[in-house]
Amino acid sequence: MASYYNENTVLWLNGAFVKATEAKMDFYSQSLHYGYSVFEGIRSYKTENSETKIFKAIEHFDRLKNSAAALNMPYIWNTEELITITYELLKRNNQKDAYIRPVVYAPANMSFVKNKESFIVIETWEMQPFLGEKLIKVMTSSFQRPNPKGFRIEAKAGGHYVNSILASQEAKAAGYDEALLTDMNGYVAEGPGANVFYEKEGKLYTPPPGNILSGITRATIFEICEEFGVSIEEKLFTTDELKQADAVFYCGTAAEVIGWNSLDETVFPATWENTISKKIQEAYKCKVTEKEYHKTAEPV
Ligand code: PMP
Repeated sequence: MASYYNENTVLWLNGAFVKATEAKMDFYSQSLHYGYSVFEGIRSYKTENSETKIFKAIEHFDRLKNSAAALNMPYIWNTEELITITYELLKRNNQKDAYIRPVVYAPANMSFVKNKESFIVIETWEMQPFLGEKLIKVMTSSFQRPNPKGFRIEAKAGGHYVNSILASQEAKAAGYDEALLTDMNGYVAEGPGANVFYEKEGKLYTPPPGNILSGITRATIFEICEEFGVSIEEKLFTTDELKQADAVFYCGTAAEVIGWNSLDETVFPATWENTISKKIQEAYKCKVTEKEYHKTAEPV
Protein backbone atom coordinates (compact mmCIF):
# COMPACT_ATOMS: atom_id res chain seq x y z
CA MET A 1 0.00 0.00 0.00
CA ALA A 2 1.12 3.50 -0.73
CA SER A 3 2.19 5.62 2.19
CA TYR A 4 0.12 8.78 2.40
CA TYR A 5 1.70 10.24 5.53
CA ASN A 6 4.53 9.86 7.95
CA GLU A 7 5.25 11.02 11.50
CA ASN A 8 5.81 14.61 10.31
CA THR A 9 2.67 14.99 8.19
CA VAL A 10 0.09 17.55 9.26
CA LEU A 11 -3.60 17.60 8.37
CA TRP A 12 -6.29 20.17 9.06
CA LEU A 13 -9.03 18.87 11.32
CA ASN A 14 -12.07 20.91 12.32
CA GLY A 15 -10.18 24.17 12.68
CA ALA A 16 -6.73 23.03 13.80
CA PHE A 17 -3.52 21.77 12.20
CA VAL A 18 -2.91 18.35 13.75
CA LYS A 19 -0.28 15.67 13.22
CA ALA A 20 -1.75 12.91 11.05
CA THR A 21 -0.47 10.28 13.49
CA GLU A 22 -2.30 11.98 16.37
CA ALA A 23 -5.60 12.89 14.67
CA LYS A 24 -8.70 11.10 15.94
CA MET A 25 -12.17 10.53 14.66
CA ASP A 26 -15.28 8.88 16.09
CA PHE A 27 -15.56 5.18 15.23
CA TYR A 28 -19.32 5.54 15.68
CA SER A 29 -19.47 8.05 12.80
CA GLN A 30 -22.32 7.59 10.35
CA SER A 31 -19.74 8.14 7.58
CA LEU A 32 -17.70 5.09 8.52
CA HIS A 33 -20.74 2.83 8.91
CA TYR A 34 -22.78 3.92 5.91
CA GLY A 35 -20.40 5.71 3.53
CA TYR A 36 -22.28 8.94 4.28
CA SER A 37 -19.60 11.53 3.56
CA VAL A 38 -18.61 13.87 0.76
CA PHE A 39 -15.13 14.63 -0.44
CA GLU A 40 -12.99 16.27 -3.10
CA GLY A 41 -9.96 15.27 -5.10
CA ILE A 42 -7.86 18.33 -5.93
CA ARG A 43 -4.39 18.79 -7.36
CA SER A 44 -1.73 21.36 -6.68
CA TYR A 45 1.21 21.76 -9.02
CA LYS A 46 4.62 23.31 -8.96
CA THR A 47 4.20 25.93 -11.67
CA GLU A 48 6.69 27.10 -14.30
CA ASN A 49 8.01 29.75 -11.88
CA SER A 50 8.20 27.32 -8.92
CA GLU A 51 5.09 28.59 -7.15
CA THR A 52 2.49 26.23 -5.69
CA LYS A 53 -0.84 26.50 -7.49
CA ILE A 54 -4.03 24.65 -6.63
CA PHE A 55 -5.75 24.00 -9.96
CA LYS A 56 -9.37 25.24 -10.06
CA ALA A 57 -9.49 25.49 -6.26
CA ILE A 58 -12.74 27.48 -6.23
CA GLU A 59 -14.52 24.98 -8.47
CA HIS A 60 -13.47 22.07 -6.25
CA PHE A 61 -14.40 23.62 -2.90
CA ASP A 62 -17.68 24.88 -4.36
CA ARG A 63 -18.42 21.32 -5.49
CA LEU A 64 -17.65 20.07 -1.97
CA LYS A 65 -20.27 22.46 -0.62
CA ASN A 66 -22.78 21.41 -3.29
CA SER A 67 -22.11 17.73 -2.60
CA ALA A 68 -22.81 18.31 1.12
CA ALA A 69 -26.05 20.14 0.26
CA ALA A 70 -27.12 17.29 -2.04
CA LEU A 71 -26.73 14.86 0.85
CA ASN A 72 -28.43 17.15 3.42
CA MET A 73 -25.20 17.54 5.38
CA PRO A 74 -24.76 20.78 7.39
CA TYR A 75 -21.87 22.80 5.92
CA ILE A 76 -20.47 25.80 7.79
CA TRP A 77 -17.26 26.49 5.83
CA ASN A 78 -16.63 28.82 2.94
CA THR A 79 -14.56 28.24 -0.15
CA GLU A 80 -12.21 31.17 0.34
CA GLU A 81 -11.27 30.17 3.88
CA LEU A 82 -10.72 26.52 2.89
CA ILE A 83 -8.44 27.56 0.02
CA THR A 84 -6.32 29.72 2.34
CA ILE A 85 -6.09 26.84 4.82
CA THR A 86 -5.10 24.40 2.09
CA TYR A 87 -2.23 26.61 0.88
CA GLU A 88 -1.03 26.82 4.48
CA LEU A 89 -1.31 23.04 4.85
CA LEU A 90 0.78 22.48 1.70
CA LYS A 91 3.38 24.85 3.08
CA ARG A 92 3.49 23.08 6.44
CA ASN A 93 3.88 19.72 4.68
CA ASN A 94 6.46 21.15 2.29
CA GLN A 95 4.51 19.97 -0.77
CA LYS A 96 4.05 21.53 -4.20
CA ASP A 97 3.01 18.66 -6.49
CA ALA A 98 0.32 17.28 -4.21
CA TYR A 99 -3.07 15.65 -4.07
CA ILE A 100 -5.52 17.40 -1.75
CA ARG A 101 -8.32 15.47 -0.12
CA PRO A 102 -10.97 17.32 1.92
CA VAL A 103 -13.59 15.05 3.50
CA VAL A 104 -16.79 16.24 5.17
CA TYR A 105 -18.05 13.58 7.55
CA ALA A 106 -20.91 12.94 9.93
CA PRO A 107 -21.16 12.53 13.69
CA ALA A 108 -22.06 9.30 15.52
CA ASN A 109 -25.61 8.57 14.44
CA MET A 110 -27.14 5.16 13.83
CA SER A 111 -30.53 6.60 12.94
CA PHE A 112 -31.25 8.02 9.50
CA VAL A 113 -32.37 11.46 10.63
CA LYS A 114 -30.57 14.58 9.47
CA ASN A 115 -27.48 15.56 11.48
CA LYS A 116 -27.12 18.88 13.30
CA GLU A 117 -23.44 19.18 12.44
CA SER A 118 -20.71 17.90 10.14
CA PHE A 119 -16.95 17.65 10.53
CA ILE A 120 -14.13 18.31 8.09
CA VAL A 121 -10.62 17.09 7.49
CA ILE A 122 -8.18 18.19 4.79
CA GLU A 123 -5.31 15.86 3.95
CA THR A 124 -2.55 16.31 1.39
CA TRP A 125 0.00 13.93 -0.03
CA GLU A 126 2.86 14.07 -2.49
CA MET A 127 2.19 13.35 -6.18
CA GLN A 128 4.37 12.86 -9.24
CA PRO A 129 4.66 16.01 -11.39
CA PHE A 130 2.61 15.04 -14.51
CA LEU A 131 1.91 11.44 -15.53
CA GLY A 132 0.51 11.30 -19.02
CA GLU A 133 2.87 9.30 -21.16
CA LYS A 134 1.74 5.70 -21.01
CA LEU A 135 -1.41 4.45 -22.76
CA ILE A 136 -3.77 2.31 -20.70
CA LYS A 137 -5.58 -0.95 -21.39
CA VAL A 138 -9.23 -0.65 -20.41
CA MET A 139 -11.86 -3.32 -19.79
CA THR A 140 -15.62 -2.91 -20.07
CA SER A 141 -16.80 -3.52 -16.52
CA SER A 142 -19.50 -5.97 -15.53
CA PHE A 143 -20.57 -3.26 -13.05
CA GLN A 144 -22.77 -0.35 -14.12
CA ARG A 145 -22.70 3.14 -12.59
CA PRO A 146 -25.27 3.77 -9.84
CA ASN A 147 -28.79 4.54 -10.97
CA PRO A 148 -29.25 8.34 -10.72
CA LYS A 149 -32.72 7.68 -9.34
CA GLY A 150 -31.11 5.89 -6.38
CA PHE A 151 -28.31 8.34 -5.62
CA ARG A 152 -27.48 12.01 -5.99
CA ILE A 153 -24.82 11.10 -8.53
CA GLU A 154 -23.80 14.72 -9.15
CA ALA A 155 -22.47 14.68 -5.56
CA LYS A 156 -19.01 13.34 -4.81
CA ALA A 157 -20.19 11.08 -1.99
CA GLY A 158 -18.06 8.49 -0.24
CA GLY A 159 -20.54 5.63 -0.63
CA HIS A 160 -20.65 5.96 -4.42
CA TYR A 161 -17.05 4.86 -4.55
CA VAL A 162 -17.85 1.29 -3.51
CA ASN A 163 -19.02 0.98 -7.11
CA SER A 164 -15.72 2.46 -8.37
CA ILE A 165 -13.66 0.13 -6.17
CA LEU A 166 -15.51 -2.98 -7.37
CA ALA A 167 -15.07 -2.00 -11.02
CA SER A 168 -11.39 -1.11 -10.69
CA GLN A 169 -10.56 -4.26 -8.73
CA GLU A 170 -12.32 -6.42 -11.32
CA ALA A 171 -10.40 -4.81 -14.22
CA LYS A 172 -7.04 -5.08 -12.49
CA ALA A 173 -7.63 -8.71 -11.50
CA ALA A 174 -8.28 -9.43 -15.20
CA GLY A 175 -4.95 -7.85 -16.17
CA TYR A 176 -6.19 -4.45 -17.36
CA ASP A 177 -5.16 -1.01 -16.12
CA GLU A 178 -8.65 0.35 -15.58
CA ALA A 179 -12.39 -0.23 -15.98
CA LEU A 180 -15.01 1.49 -18.13
CA LEU A 181 -18.54 1.53 -16.71
CA THR A 182 -21.80 1.82 -18.57
CA ASP A 183 -24.91 3.52 -17.22
CA MET A 184 -28.08 1.70 -16.21
CA ASN A 185 -29.26 1.77 -19.84
CA GLY A 186 -26.05 0.24 -21.15
CA TYR A 187 -24.54 3.41 -22.63
CA VAL A 188 -20.94 4.36 -21.89
CA ALA A 189 -20.84 6.44 -18.70
CA GLU A 190 -17.36 6.97 -17.22
CA GLY A 191 -14.43 5.38 -15.45
CA PRO A 192 -14.26 4.64 -11.73
CA GLY A 193 -12.71 8.09 -11.20
CA ALA A 194 -12.53 9.78 -14.59
CA ASN A 195 -14.64 11.00 -17.53
CA VAL A 196 -14.21 9.57 -21.01
CA PHE A 197 -13.78 11.31 -24.39
CA TYR A 198 -13.22 9.82 -27.81
CA GLU A 199 -11.80 11.32 -30.97
CA LYS A 200 -13.04 10.43 -34.44
CA GLU A 201 -12.25 12.21 -37.70
CA GLY A 202 -11.14 15.41 -36.01
CA LYS A 203 -14.05 15.70 -33.59
CA LEU A 204 -14.50 14.80 -29.93
CA TYR A 205 -17.40 13.02 -28.24
CA THR A 206 -18.29 12.52 -24.58
CA PRO A 207 -21.39 11.36 -22.68
CA PRO A 208 -23.73 14.15 -21.50
CA PRO A 209 -24.33 14.90 -17.80
CA GLY A 210 -27.09 12.83 -16.22
CA ASN A 211 -25.48 9.50 -15.49
CA ILE A 212 -21.95 10.73 -14.74
CA LEU A 213 -20.01 12.90 -12.35
CA SER A 214 -19.53 15.81 -14.71
CA GLY A 215 -15.91 16.55 -13.83
CA ILE A 216 -13.96 19.75 -13.46
CA THR A 217 -11.29 18.30 -15.78
CA ARG A 218 -14.05 17.49 -18.28
CA ALA A 219 -15.02 21.18 -18.20
CA THR A 220 -11.36 22.10 -18.74
CA ILE A 221 -11.27 19.85 -21.84
CA PHE A 222 -14.23 21.82 -23.20
CA GLU A 223 -12.26 25.06 -22.61
CA ILE A 224 -9.20 23.70 -24.41
CA CYS A 225 -11.30 22.52 -27.37
CA GLU A 226 -12.89 25.95 -27.56
CA GLU A 227 -9.41 27.50 -27.73
CA PHE A 228 -8.35 24.96 -30.36
CA GLY A 229 -11.55 25.33 -32.39
CA VAL A 230 -12.16 21.58 -32.05
CA SER A 231 -15.81 20.64 -31.76
CA ILE A 232 -17.14 18.41 -28.98
CA GLU A 233 -20.45 16.66 -29.11
CA GLU A 234 -22.14 15.38 -25.95
CA LYS A 235 -24.01 12.23 -26.87
CA LEU A 236 -24.90 8.77 -25.62
CA PHE A 237 -22.93 5.98 -27.26
CA THR A 238 -22.32 2.28 -26.74
CA THR A 239 -19.04 0.44 -26.21
CA ASP A 240 -19.40 -0.86 -29.81
CA GLU A 241 -19.41 2.73 -31.09
CA LEU A 242 -16.51 3.60 -28.80
CA LYS A 243 -14.48 0.78 -30.35
CA GLN A 244 -14.75 2.57 -33.74
CA ALA A 245 -12.90 5.62 -32.34
CA ASP A 246 -9.52 6.82 -33.61
CA ALA A 247 -8.34 7.57 -30.06
CA VAL A 248 -9.81 7.65 -26.54
CA PHE A 249 -8.78 9.24 -23.28
CA TYR A 250 -9.79 9.45 -19.66
CA CYS A 251 -9.62 12.74 -17.79
CA GLY A 252 -9.89 13.61 -14.14
CA THR A 253 -8.07 15.54 -11.47
CA ALA A 254 -5.93 12.53 -10.49
CA ALA A 255 -5.85 10.83 -13.92
CA GLU A 256 -5.12 14.16 -15.66
CA VAL A 257 -5.43 13.32 -19.39
CA ILE A 258 -4.48 9.74 -20.11
CA GLY A 259 -4.75 8.05 -23.49
CA TRP A 260 -6.09 4.57 -24.07
CA ASN A 261 -4.24 1.80 -25.84
CA SER A 262 -7.28 -0.44 -26.05
CA LEU A 263 -10.78 -1.30 -24.87
CA ASP A 264 -11.18 -5.04 -24.26
CA GLU A 265 -9.61 -6.63 -27.36
CA THR A 266 -9.85 -3.53 -29.56
CA VAL A 267 -6.66 -1.49 -30.01
CA PHE A 268 -7.27 2.12 -31.10
CA PRO A 269 -5.72 2.75 -34.52
CA ALA A 270 -4.39 6.33 -34.32
CA THR A 271 -0.79 6.92 -33.26
CA TRP A 272 -1.25 8.83 -30.00
CA GLU A 273 1.47 11.34 -30.90
CA ASN A 274 -0.53 12.40 -33.97
CA THR A 275 -3.92 12.86 -32.31
CA ILE A 276 -5.79 15.95 -31.24
CA SER A 277 -6.17 14.13 -27.92
CA LYS A 278 -2.40 14.29 -27.42
CA LYS A 279 -2.47 18.06 -28.12
CA ILE A 280 -5.21 18.40 -25.53
CA GLN A 281 -3.15 16.40 -23.05
CA GLU A 282 -0.21 18.77 -23.59
CA ALA A 283 -2.43 21.84 -23.24
CA TYR A 284 -3.85 20.48 -19.99
CA LYS A 285 -0.37 19.97 -18.63
CA CYS A 286 0.46 23.58 -19.54
CA LYS A 287 -2.73 24.90 -17.93
CA VAL A 288 -2.10 23.19 -14.58
CA THR A 289 1.52 24.33 -14.47
CA GLU A 290 0.69 27.81 -15.82
CA LYS A 291 2.88 27.42 -18.87
CA GLU A 292 2.16 29.18 -22.18
CA TYR A 293 1.00 27.00 -25.06
CA HIS A 294 -0.07 27.36 -28.67
CA LYS A 295 -3.84 27.57 -28.80
CA THR A 296 -4.13 25.43 -31.89
CA ALA A 297 -4.53 21.73 -32.57
CA GLU A 298 -2.56 22.10 -35.83
CA PRO A 299 1.10 21.09 -35.89
CA VAL A 300 3.31 24.11 -35.05
N1 PMP B 1 -16.06 10.64 -12.58
C1 PMP B 1 -15.84 10.11 -11.37
C2 PMP B 1 -16.68 8.96 -10.93
C3 PMP B 1 -14.84 10.63 -10.53
O1 PMP B 1 -14.61 10.11 -9.33
C4 PMP B 1 -14.04 11.70 -11.00
C5 PMP B 1 -12.94 12.25 -10.13
N2 PMP B 1 -13.44 13.23 -9.25
C6 PMP B 1 -14.31 12.23 -12.27
C7 PMP B 1 -15.32 11.67 -13.03
C8 PMP B 1 -13.53 13.39 -12.79
O2 PMP B 1 -13.85 14.54 -12.05
P1 PMP B 1 -12.82 15.73 -11.87
O3 PMP B 1 -12.34 16.07 -13.23
O4 PMP B 1 -13.64 16.80 -11.26
O5 PMP B 1 -11.73 15.25 -11.00
